[in-house]
Amino acid sequence: MSDLIDFKELHWLLTVTQSIDVGVVVLDHAYQVHVWNTFMENRSGVLSYKAANRSFFSLFPELNERWLKNKIDSVMTLGTPAFTIWEQRPYLVRFPSYQPITGQEEFMYQNTTLLPLRSTTGVITHVCLVIYDVTEVATNRLQLQAANRELQKLSSTDRLTSLYNRGHWEEALRLEHARHVRYGTSAALVMFDIDHFKRVNDTYGHQCGDRVIQRVADVVREHTRDADIAGRYGGEEFAVLLPDTDKHGGAMFAERLRAAVEALDVMHEGESIRCTISLGVADMIAPMDDYKTLIERADQALYASKKNGRNRVSVDEAD
Ligand code: GH3
Ligand code: MG
Ligand code: MG
Repeated sequence: MSDLIDFKELHWLLTVTQSIDVGVVVLDHAYQVHVWNTFMENRSGVLSYKAANRSFFSLFPELNERWLKNKIDSVMTLGTPAFTIWEQRPYLVRFPSYQPITGQEEFMYQNTTLLPLRSTTGVITHVCLVIYDVTEVATNRLQLQAANRELQKLSSTDRLTSLYNRGHWEEALRLEHARHVRYGTSAALVMFDIDHFKRVNDTYGHQCGDRVIQRVADVVREHTRDADIAGRYGGEEFAVLLPDTDKHGGAMFAERLRAAVEALDVMHEGESIRCTISLGVADMIAPMDDYKTLIERADQALYASKKNGRNRVSVDEAD
């Protein structure tokens, strides 16, 4: 269909417009309805003879009148078509969705076109509004986007704790290290391991062990800020990266975490289970070639905590 439709041709075009599966409405300067095809009758529930000569805005009170009037006026003045797309404006007029089986949407997504119509004397006297039902396309696209978001989340988080998994966490550490190399920023790393966790499993069972891991992860979540990156490093080993923090700040954070886990009560079949954690802290204040060095240092400090009696924080000595 060309941009400009000769008004003469409208008579036989009308026959076509009645049978096609798009909405066709012709409006005049005063936004009054002159053509209202079968699609419009079916979807709006308003018959053609009832819509005739009525203002388009009185038929759809929910419309943003000023916005659409501007759009129609510019089509008439400039003689060029205008469009709306569902990604920016889900619909122009609100129609219920017509998808009885797959229909999860309560309204019809629409793309629309506004075409200038010239009279036989070449003056633009009317505009033709074409409404396309794009609900199926929109629904598929939205479902795909939602699925991708979910997949993205699943691939970066740990199933048991919802903290970042090791892969994602290490990638975040690698990026933070690159920032350190480039801008000289600091970051502290706190790693910790639950003490005598085998005993929990052996005494209360694996499921109870899982529950303890989850509750410890909750404590981590409660104590971290948005910028901190908390991950499950291994079975009952965790790692928290604290950007723009040195090891002294990291040690304070670690101590709060230690105390909070020590105070934690995990209920299992009416019994209260307590546990403690051993922590190690290191930072990348001094130039550091490889991000893995930071993990090694925090891990060595963690090992020192285990060796010196557990339930404690040790800080890496290296400068
Ligand atoms: P330590 O104080 O030296 O850390 O003693 P530990 O008993 O905690 O020893 P270690 O850290 O080596 O053992 C960890 C145990 O945690 C071994 C493993 O069976 C258990 N574990 C690892 N992952 C999971 C998990 O996802 N769920 C449960 N329930 N147990 C796990
Ligand atoms: Mg352990
Ligand atoms: Mg362990």
